[in-house]
Amino acid sequence: MSRPLEVCTTVAAFRAACDRLRAEGGRLALVPTMGALHRGHLALVEEGRRRAANVAVSIFVNPTQFGPNEDFQKYPRPLERDLELCREAGVRVAFTPTPEEMYPRGERTRVHVSGLTDALCGPFRPGHFDGVATVVTKFFAATGPCVAVFGRKDYQQLQVVRRLAADLLLPVEVVGYPTVREPDGLALSSRNAYLSAEERLRALSIPRALSRALALHAAGERRAGALRRTVLEFVEPAATRIDYVTVADADELRPYADDQRVGERPLVALAAFVGTTRLIDNVVASEDNSPVPTPP
Ligand code: AMP
Repeated sequence: MSRPLEVCTTVAAFRAACDRLRAEGGRLALVPTMGALHRGHLALVEEGRRRAANVAVSIFVNPTQFGPNEDFQKYPRPLERDLELCREAGVRVAFTPTPEEMYPRGERTRVHVSGLTDALCGPFRPGHFDGVATVVTKFFAATGPCVAVFGRKDYQQLQVVRRLAADLLLPVEVVGYPTVREPDGLALSSRNAYLSAEERLRALSIPRALSRALALHAAGERRAGALRRTVLEFVEPAATRIDYVTVADADELRPYADDQRVGERPLVALAAFVGTTRLIDNVVASEDNSPVPTPP
């Protein structure tokens, strides 16, 4: 018989629920999300269930990781549907706090992970990763998870979380789960809901570009500039605006200059607007399979 989902809105109730689950004896996994759950999120939950007896999910649109001109207000919040999906997925406890609960009056603390946030999305979203690092630290403190599952779709975020957990000596295993994609290659994202049918088609240039970069790398291309230009060739005609296309070291996230040679597993990452929707995607050569399924 599946056990019921407990929904907590306060840190105190959530902490008590997590304490009870840990007292049952098994490991506890945490999957932090901003809700509007899709198959990508649910794959993280499944991974959590493989690695732990119980899974907790946080659903919180975190205001401190949004810039003033970003989509905090309009971000989708289908809470009842999300909770139903959590129930079906066997999640034991969902944490759905208010911003006031997560950021008590007078709060002044931010967690900053230096270096890893200098490139890629960092310059385009000032303060974003401080917001992420801060809220994830709070979730870790409230949950006490043995394991936390994050998507490689947000590769820079994953590296930031890995680093903060190690640096702050947090006793949590941070797991990175591969990007879940639509059959045509588009990475699942809550923000895909903003795309019109025509924009959705244009967005396919992103996985196609990354797929091409992977193929070139597999064929022996090691010039960073060649990999970068290939991605740009695909994405430039389709995107409304490109924030960046970066080839970087997959661990330290240091960008390669175009005239440098990459190693065996470079990260190829990009952020681009299609219409008014900002999409991000990435691959790590030698680790990711082709993001676009090969036609039969
Ligand atoms: P979000 O709700 O967008 O903050 O995402 C919550 C978690 O789900 C993050 O760890 C994301 O990296 C992960 N995630 C989002 N989209 C995907 C996807 N398509 N595949 C795998 N994980 C994902």
